[in-house]
Amino acid sequence: MLFSETDVLEFGTKLQQANTITLVSHFNPDGDTIGAVSAFYYYLTYRNKSVQVVIPNDFPHFLDFLMKDIPYIIASKQLEEVKPLFTNTDLIICLDFNAPKRVGDILMDTLISTTKPKVLIDHHISPEKEHFDILFSSTQVSSASELVYEVLSRVEKKPFLTKDIAQGLYVGICTDTGSFSFSCNSRRTYEVVADLVENGAEVEYVHQEVYNTYSENRLKLLGFCLFERLKVFPEQGAAFIYLSKNDLRRFNYQIGDAEGIVNFCLSMEGIEFGALVTERVDRIRISFRSKYNFDVNEFARDYWNGGGHKKASGGHSFEKLDTVIDMLTQQINTIKIKS
Ligand code: 5GP
Ligand code: MN
Repeated sequence: MLFSETDVLEFGTKLQQANTITLVSHFNPDGDTIGAVSAFYYYLTYRNKSVQVVIPNDFPHFLDFLMKDIPYIIASKQLEEVKPLFTNTDLIICLDFNAPKRVGDILMDTLISTTKPKVLIDHHISPEKEHFDILFSSTQVSSASELVYEVLSRVEKKPFLTKDIAQGLYVGICTDTGSFSFSCNSRRTYEVVADLVENGAEVEYVHQEVYNTYSENRLKLLGFCLFERLKVFPEQGAAFIYLSKNDLRRFNYQIGDAEGIVNFCLSMEGIEFGALVTERVDRIRISFRSKYNFDVNEFARDYWNGGGHKKASGGHSFEKLDTVIDMLTQQINTIKIKS
C-alpha cells in the first residue's frame, strides 16, 4: 500500500468540491513533471474542472507534443499573471517535486504563502511535509507519473484512462527511467505501462518525439561536448563534461539541448560517476549521474546545494566556472567513487 485510504478519500473530496484547480511543475521541467501535468490536465478537464497550468520556466521543445493543446503559463515570462492564480484557485496540485524551492526563486514564496490547499504527488526522498496538506509521496515508484496513475486509480473507482492521460503518464515513466534502464525494477511499473499502452500510449511515437527531434545545433553540441569538453578520471571511475556560456552561444543553445549529455559519461566502461557542468546566466548548474553504488543525491546535497535521487541528481554553485571545475576535480580525486 503506497498511501492511506484517508488521504485518498480526502483528496477525492477536495477534487469533487473544487471548481478551479492549479497544476504546478518543477523548475527546469523534465518529461516526468510535464508528463504528469499534462495527464492531470486531461483528467481534470474530463471531470469538467477549470484547470490552470503553471510551469516555472520553459520546458524542452521535445515535450511540445504533450502540451500543444493545453493552455499554460510560464512563470518566468508572465510573473504578474501567475501570482493571482495561486489565490483564485480551490486546490493546488504539485507534481514531481518535494519542496517549494524546486519551483525556483520566482515562484517559491507564492507557493509557500498561498492559503489554498496543496497536494503533493512526488517520488523524491524527504518531502518537506509542512508545506503540503495532503502528501502522496513514495520512492518505491519509477516516477511521479507512475504515482499519479496509482493515486487516480484509487480516487476513481471506474476506468479513467483516456489516450491523452495515458500518453502523458507514459512519457513520464519512460523519460524518468531512461527508457526503462533504471528505477524500474518492480513488476508494478510494467503493469502500469501495460495499462497505459492498452489505453492509447504510443510507444514508437513517443520515442520519436522525445529522442529523435534534435536540431542540427543540438547534435553538434553533443559532438563538441564529447570531443572538446570531456574530462575523464579513469583511476577514480569518474568523468565530467563542462560547457561555458560561450559554448552554449556558439551552438545557439535552446532549453533541453543539454538533456541526456551527462549520461554519455557513464557509457564508458569503468566510469561510475558522471557530471555535466553548465554555465548559466546567474549560476553554474550541475547534473550528476551514477551507476552501481555511488549516491549522487547525497553528493549533490553535501557539496552542491542540490539533491535528487541516488543515481540522478542536480545542484548549483555561484562560483565561477573555472572554480567549479577545480572544486569538482578535487572532489573526484578525494572521494571514493568506485564500489
Ligand atoms: P537533471 O540533472 O536532469 O536536471 O536532474 C536530475 C534529477 O535531480 C531530477 O530529476 C531532480 O529530481 C533532481 N534535481 C536536479 N536539480 C536539483 C536541485 O537543485 N535540487 C534538488 N533537490 N534536486 C534536483
Ligand atoms: Mn521525476
